[in-house]
Amino acid sequence: MRKYTTLVAGGAGFVGSHLCHRLLADGKRVVCIDNLSTGQATNIEALQANPSFDFILHDVVKPLHVDYAVDEIYSLACPASPIHYQKDPVKTFKTSIIGSINLLELARENHARILLASTSEVYGNALETPQRESYYGNVTPNGPRSCYDEGKRGAETLFCDYHRKYGLDTKIVRIFNTYGPLMRVDDGRVVPTFISQALKGESLTIYGDGAQTRSLMYIDDLIEGLVKTMACSCCYAPLNLGNPDERTIRNLAERILQLTHSSSTLTYQPRPENDPIRRCPDISRAQRLLDGWHPKISLDEGLHKTITHFKSLV
Ligand code: NAD
Ligand code: UDP
Repeated sequence: MRKYTTLVAGGAGFVGSHLCHRLLADGKRVVCIDNLSTGQATNIEALQANPSFDFILHDVVKPLHVDYAVDEIYSLACPASPIHYQKDPVKTFKTSIIGSINLLELARENHARILLASTSEVYGNALETPQRESYYGNVTPNGPRSCYDEGKRGAETLFCDYHRKYGLDTKIVRIFNTYGPLMRVDDGRVVPTFISQALKGESLTIYGDGAQTRSLMYIDDLIEGLVKTMACSCCYAPLNLGNPDERTIRNLAERILQLTHSSSTLTYQPRPENDPIRRCPDISRAQRLLDGWHPKISLDEGLHKTITHFKSLV
């Protein structure tokens, strides 16, 4: 019998590689598509020997045709760290918009369901906290983060229009800051940066006064939410996936110093333009629609697992 086939675009990245591992463990055939721009071949190295796993080096900005039937598609291909997505903002925007169209067309050809990894960045510098899915956001269309934020907003538009126009089974999840093993040491996002600085005995670089907040979710909780969303026959409207445990960046730095037993100090640098002040998800919709899904791993537990992973790399 033909195995249920899942295509993971961006499958060599942080989230994508965890998802590939999980889907294979669930008995699915997995096709990983990636251009390896921010992803790492080492993230999927252990999977290459699995006969149910295929890797295709491909850029989603180019149309994609595969030789076999695809049942479901996860659209994750897009740089997610501000330093990476701002390096080539035009490419980032093309990846979100043209990449989405190419994957949506592939889904149409295959009558496959398709899920977009959108982001809490669609809320911009939110004037409401916690952020509910019904909040339209406060996003600048022309700032340094706009290539990412507006790219994802455009991708959401495309996913909804493919659903309305073609009846495609589309799903949108708005992911709030997620961290864990398999992030790059040079990823630039706050958790891997602070952990590697703490382990190396370097000062932790706090941007601004560190009073801005983020709500951090451990990767296993996100993967569970993604798989449940894909399996859900719920509507095509966006769902927040995040951990509502809101922390200041200064508090995060202090937790990491304590858990790594590091004597590093804190240094303060200018806060980047358009860096949102508060991030906290309202996850009641996801809890209702995804069978009680909620994040189970505390910040200290998740940081401990991530620190253990980074100790072998730094
Ligand atoms: P990541 O940078 O580790 O992974 C992105 C992957 O996409 C990489 O493997 C990269 O090589 C690949 N990629 C980028 N552009 C591509 C292109 N044009 N063609 C093919 N492959 C391409 O980032 P991540 O944290 O794993 O994020 C995965 C997805 O989840 C992204 O779409 C991101 O926007 C979304 N997301 C992540 C978070 C988070 O906190 N991790 C939060 C919100 C949204
Ligand atoms: N940040 C920081 N020091 C760093 C990296 C990030 O203080 O070395 C801050 C950043 O300014 C932001 C928060 O941490 O307020 C989260 O940044 P990240 O790049 O992880 O994700 P974002 O939510 O901004 O996309």
